[in-house]
Amino acid sequence: MRGPRLEIRLDRLDHNARTLRQQLARLGIAITAVSKASLGLPEIVRTWTAAGIDSIGDSRIETIEALNRAGITTPMLLIRSPMLSQVERVVAHATSSCNSEPVVLQALAAAARSQGRRHGVLLMVELGDLREGILPADLEAVAQLTLEQPALRLLGIGTNLGCQHGIAADPRNMAELSALATALERRFAVRLEIVSGGNSSNLPWLAAGHPPGRINHLRLGEALLLGREPLARTALPGLHTEAFCLVAEIIEAKCKPCRPWGRRGQTSFAAVAAPAQRPRAQRQRALLALGIQDVDPAGLSAPAGITIVGASSDHLVIEADRPLAVGEELRFGLDYSALLRAMTSPFIQRHCLQGHGLKRDGLQGKGLQGDGLQESSLLGNALASSARV
Ligand SMILES: *Cc1c(COP(=O)(O)O)cnc(C)c1O
Repeated sequence: MRGPRLEIRLDRLDHNARTLRQQLARLGIAITAVSKASLGLPEIVRTWTAAGIDSIGDSRIETIEALNRAGITTPMLLIRSPMLSQVERVVAHATSSCNSEPVVLQALAAAARSQGRRHGVLLMVELGDLREGILPADLEAVAQLTLEQPALRLLGIGTNLGCQHGIAADPRNMAELSALATALERRFAVRLEIVSGGNSSNLPWLAAGHPPGRINHLRLGEALLLGREPLARTALPGLHTEAFCLVAEIIEAKCKPCRPWGRRGQTSFAAVAAPAQRPRAQRQRALLALGIQDVDPAGLSAPAGITIVGASSDHLVIEADRPLAVGEELRFGLDYSALLRAMTSPFIQRHCLQGHGLKRDGLQGKGLQGDGLQESSLLGNALASSARV
């Protein structure tokens, strides 16, 4: 297969899903696997469900509809508050949704009534990251409004940290969420099925050994896909960080001067910060058929001996320690931002791979040892300390 392409190691995604599911299950925490950074690729979602993940979350109703069309019947959670203009589609295709606006809840209830369905509601609470969420003081009123609608089912409450201001889950905000759940249950004499503590950025909090309290659910994307937590982008022990690889082709390769010449103005795009290099007159320079239309160049990691020096719409400019050839392919690692955009580009093909001669758990397989996998358990500390409490 030629052309820019994402190689997707499904066996590694399977390993990440099984590992996280098992480790979190021991803490009483279930996972909704978030498919948004993979544009809901059905092969990835099927890999997750085969690994025992029993609900899928996505931010876009269009993606959830596409997953339904692909025959995936796993319960779907819309993780972004529904647009008022899309409530009928949300009720028809998503099992449940995250919500923070009374007017949307009322519209969802009306749509569910007219479709003869019951729609699940997870009320999102603002705990400091200042993206979505009901302020804690207003939660009771919104819960009441939800409970008064027979076409809505109050599944529970949740919060989202890390995404907007990088606020970390900590013992204080997680205890606040637990306390809010308990208070709602007392006030309305109901049982909340789900207390959703957050996303991949909650994993360091658990790994530090803090007891989960009432938190029994996380919505995980980055940890499953890239094996990293988003706060410091640390690799999570025991997970694969290289399930995705972007392959692109060289279309020009020359020895060129290092310094541009002529009068300088603005460039088409903000410059990629190139690492400082020893001054040299000439260097091996090459262009790849890959650009800002396809990927976030700042989120690519180049192979050894290659430096990314810039990018425009359709070109990635690199310098190299060795001569490169037109037609040669180079392989790049991706961070979350690069992956999100690469999955969205219509110019990048997706190539799902199962690995070669790998055992199902991916650990004994040839080629996987020394692959960044560590023996220790991500949640070993948490397990130890929750055994103590
Ligand atoms: C994106 C998102 C997630 C998943 O976040 P990761 O950091 O990829 O785990 C979870 N919940 C909500 C509301 C999100 O928007």
